[in-house]
Parts: sequence; structure tokens; C-alpha cells
Amino acid sequence: MLTQTPRGTKDIFGTQILLWQKAEDTIRKICAAFCAEEIRTPMFEHTELFLRGVGEETDVVQKEMYTFLDKGNRSLTLRPEFTAGVARAYIEHKLHADPSPTRLYYVGPNFRYERPAAGRMRQFHQFGAECFGSYDPAADAEMISLADTVLSELNINGYTININSLGGTACRAKYNEVLKTFLKENLSALCPVCQTRYETNPLRVLDCKDESCKEILVNSPIPLDSLDTECKLHWEKLQSLLDTLDIQYTVNGRIVRGLDYYTRTVFEFIDADTGLTICGGGRYDRLIEECGGAATGAVGFAMGLERIISMMPDALTKRPYVYIGAIGEAGFYKAQSVAQTLRRSGIRAQPDIVGRGVKAQMRFADKTGAIYSFIIGDDEMVNHQVKIKDMRTNSETAVSFNELLNFFS
Ligand code: ATP
Ligand code: MG
Repeated sequence: MLTQTPRGTKDIFGTQILLWQKAEDTIRKICAAFCAEEIRTPMFEHTELFLRGVGEETDVVQKEMYTFLDKGNRSLTLRPEFTAGVARAYIEHKLHADPSPTRLYYVGPNFRYERPAAGRMRQFHQFGAECFGSYDPAADAEMISLADTVLSELNINGYTININSLGGTACRAKYNEVLKTFLKENLSALCPVCQTRYETNPLRVLDCKDESCKEILVNSPIPLDSLDTECKLHWEKLQSLLDTLDIQYTVNGRIVRGLDYYTRTVFEFIDADTGLTICGGGRYDRLIEECGGAATGAVGFAMGLERIISMMPDALTKRPYVYIGAIGEAGFYKAQSVAQTLRRSGIRAQPDIVGRGVKAQMRFADKTGAIYSFIIGDDEMVNHQVKIKDMRTNSETAVSFNELLNFFS
């Protein structure tokens, strides 16, 4: 117990952390290009927010939430996703009063009590973005493009973008009836959860992961067939806009997404290799109202960072740096101060701080990926210069202490 992480969690370090940092740096760069600003919400929220915001019929709420009473007897829940918290923040801070649209993005951990499996953790991380204040499909296309641009900047490919439309409230009601008629004929063959959902929220049945349910559902009617004129226009315009943005996509009438709040557009980026969804999102025009704000058009996505990082080409190894060895006490002190000078100029450097012998110092520099190294001993102190070794070519260059910064800059 003492030396093991809790089930479904992991430590991230070593070469893995380099991939995480690269992913996060890329996310920040691309979000800035899309004029999205970062938001950091609390890691826990009032439980009601998720009941309302995620939906009582979802797997997340029914099975996966880390809910606890705090010492003041409040029911709190570790966030299982970001959108509800971001929507809460949008209302709480009256962001609708700012010029619309508002684009926000986030990166951080979420918590779901799930059965750990490949690509499924209890603490996992998401990058996502939300756009508030537009009903136009240009916002939907933009969010899809943001997710797609981040992935392509990370050299991740081999996924397909699946899009669908669930329609607005009226279309969904109409579709619910059509779907219920279909489900009724197959009710006894559905899993027990789907049998309940047939009554409470039939759309959820389409999202069931049970193999025998899936088999029945391949023949079900799809929401696209129940769209009214306005929703159809929205859906068609979305596709023209994606074409304009040169984004390849596939229409997949069976995508409904796991969370309850979606209206009209829904989409999933699916990894062809594993069949796992790496990014999911859609439009949720009713959520802000549902949580107590004014009616606000909104669309967003979330992508699982563990899943995308496992798809990144593993080219990163160690970060290059300058190693400063020392012989004798004067050299040791000088090594510390030279390292300080280099570091203050942003050059990655490390001096010996262990007090090793020179041979061991060189072995350390070699093993840890130094690209330059030099030793400061009595001769160097007298001559005010060092011999810098390029570890890749083994060539040496004499450089005076005064010129060190220039040499490495
Ligand atoms: P799934 O159908 O795989 O359970 P979901 O519908 O629950 O996904 P969302 O809530 O939409 O997923 O989350 C968006 C993304 O977050 C997913 O596509 C996935 O990449 C990632 N994700 C969700 N749950 C986990 C988890 N337990 N571990 C790792 N990544 C996850
Ligand atoms: Mg899930």
C-alpha cells in the first residue's frame, strides 16, 4: 500500500513527462492562436452541479462520481469533467456581460470511479475548450478545428472525425418517440440498464457499451432523420464550414455522446487503431440556462490527454544541458558560481553537487545526456579558462571564463 499508487492512478515522470510538457505547450500555443483564454476551476464542486450539469441518467453520475461529505456536511464531488464547472464559472462571474463570444480552454485532472483498463483511469487528464455566445455552426466548426489543429501539431494522425446532429429540443422529443417505438420491439433483449433508460432517457441507450445492445442498435433509427428545417440548415452549414476549413470528417448518425446536455452538433474523434474516442464534444445550448444563467449558445469539446499522449511519436529523450565538473575546493566553488551565471541566462546547466571524483563526474555527464561538459580545477583557476568538450563529437574548445556565456548563448 505505502509504495503503490491507488488503483487507476499513475505517476508521470521521466521521458513521459517530456511528452506531457510538449502536449501542454502545444495546447497553450494553439489555443492562443484561436483567441481562447485559459480557465482553472476548482477540483471539486457542489455535487448538485454535476447532477444537473452532466445529467442524472449518465454513467458518470450513476456510477462514476467521487462524492463525499466534507466536515461541514456539504456534499462535494471531485470533478468528473470540466464543462459543468466552466459553465458555472461563466454564470457566476457574469462573463456573458463581456463581448461575445467567449472562448475558454482548460487542462487538468478529472476523477471517475471506473474499472481501470487500457486508456481508462480513475484520475485522468483532459484538455478541452468551450465557446459561449454563438448559436452559429461557425462556432462548432471552430471548436472541431481547434481540437484537430492541436492533434496535427502534435503529429498525431490515424483518427477520424465523426460528426452528427441530435437536433434541438423539439427534434429530440420527436426522435425519442421514434426510438422508443423501435426499442419497444427489442426491449427484452436489451441489458437491464437500457431497459430502465428506455423509460427515463431513451437516447442514452444508443451510447450503451454492452455488445448485445450494440448489435440491436445498428438497425435503430437515427436522430438525423428527425431534424426540423432549422436544425437541418444548422447541420448542413456545419458541413460546408468544415469543408471551407479543409477538415476531413465522416457523418456518423449513431454518435450521441455520454453526457446529457448536448443539442444539435455532437462529434467524436476516434482512433482507428484502438477504436477509442480521443476527443468528444458538441453543442449544449441549454446548459447555461439549466444551471441558472441566461439562454446562451455554447459548444465545446474535451480530449483525454492520456490517450493522445500515448499516440504521440516518442521522439523526445532527454533535454540537453551543460555539465560543470570540478577538482578541488576552489574549482568546486567556481563550478557553482559558473552554473549560477549560465542558469540566470536561461541556459540549462548543472555543476557537481555531490563531490564526486572526476571520472565519476564524467560518467554522470555522459549518462544523463549532457551535450557540453568541462572541468574546473587548479589549472583552470590560474588560466581563467576551461576546455569545453562537445559530448557528441568529443572535440574540445578552450574558452575563457568571461566568454562562457557567449559560447553557450
Ligand atoms: P468513454 O465512452 O470512453 O467512456 P466518455 O463519453 O465517458 O468516454 P467524455 O466524458 O466525453 O468521455 O470525455 C472526453 C474524453 O476524455 C474521452 O474521449 C476520453 O479520451 C477521455 N476520458 C474519459 N474518461 C476517461 C478515463 N476514465 N480515463 C482516461 N481518459 C478518459
Ligand atoms: Mg465514460
